[in-house]
Amino acid sequence: MLKIAILGVSGRMGTNIMNVVEASARCQLVAAVDAPNSPYLGQDSGEIAGFGRNGITITDDLEAALEDVAVAIDFTHAEASVSNIPRLARIGVPVVIGTTGITQEGKNAIAEAAQSIPIVFAPNMSTGVNVTLRLLEMAASILGDEYDVEVVEAHHNQKKDAPSGTAMKMAQVLAETLNRDLATDAVYHRQGMIGERTPREIGIQTIRGGDIVGDHTVYFCGPGERIEITHRAHSRQTFANGAVRAAYWLAGKPAGLYSMFDVLGLSE
Ligand code: NAD
Repeated sequence: MLKIAILGVSGRMGTNIMNVVEASARCQLVAAVDAPNSPYLGQDSGEIAGFGRNGITITDDLEAALEDVAVAIDFTHAEASVSNIPRLARIGVPVVIGTTGITQEGKNAIAEAAQSIPIVFAPNMSTGVNVTLRLLEMAASILGDEYDVEVVEAHHNQKKDAPSGTAMKMAQVLAETLNRDLATDAVYHRQGMIGERTPREIGIQTIRGGDIVGDHTVYFCGPGERIEITHRAHSRQTFANGAVRAAYWLAGKPAGLYSMFDVLGLSE
């Protein structure tokens, strides 16, 4: 049984991941961590996930919680994940990081930690989104520069970051395939304004509302036609399943920074 810790256990993703772990015969929840100001500290995590008692008390003492853990799964907030990472590296616990909105400086800290522990870091853990990224590469490489490329993403109204990490990842994959430089052919985060975009920019538009789990559509708009490639997440379970799958895959791997492409066998 793979011994798992969930960081951010009482959040939207944390509770979904706990449900997946509890339902699995291959892994076991051994530590449940949340923020020092969490109203759930000291409570049984199983009750929060709706599973009744599982005997694991929610704590903010990361070091103590990780004593007997094979893999940690971190779905917290950007600053929290960045502050957790050197502590995980010091203890030597592999980690799956799903948190988005992490700054370049934070990403550098994750890359540095990956020299001593194995890390899966992915803005979207769903199998479908990672297959979609491959489809985008294929479409962009065939359509080329004649087509304008726009990404539209929609999420629930509590989401902390915009544009979504998945939209940024899509833009990055498209820019690499189209041989556009993200530094100079800037991704344009459109917020209602039209007209400032240069032809080589990849536009990203953001919608926030209600309880939308996560929709992403990429438009390839060309002369006399367009292609729309859409992924819709119906529930957070797709991300939770991916996170737990990544945890199984990560156990026993050498130190390094891995993506969901590696986990799913989609890497070239
Ligand atoms: P949420 O706000 O519902 O939950 C975050 C939880 O983290 C809260 O319980 C909070 O108390 C806790 N937390 C904050 N600081 C902490 C700390 N220092 N230590 C431990 N816990 C701490 O958010 P959510 O909707 O569950 O999303 C969490 C993150 O995951 C976001 O960045 C979101 O964008 C990302 N996300 C990623 C994927 C993916 O597939 N990679 C999918 C969905 C969401």
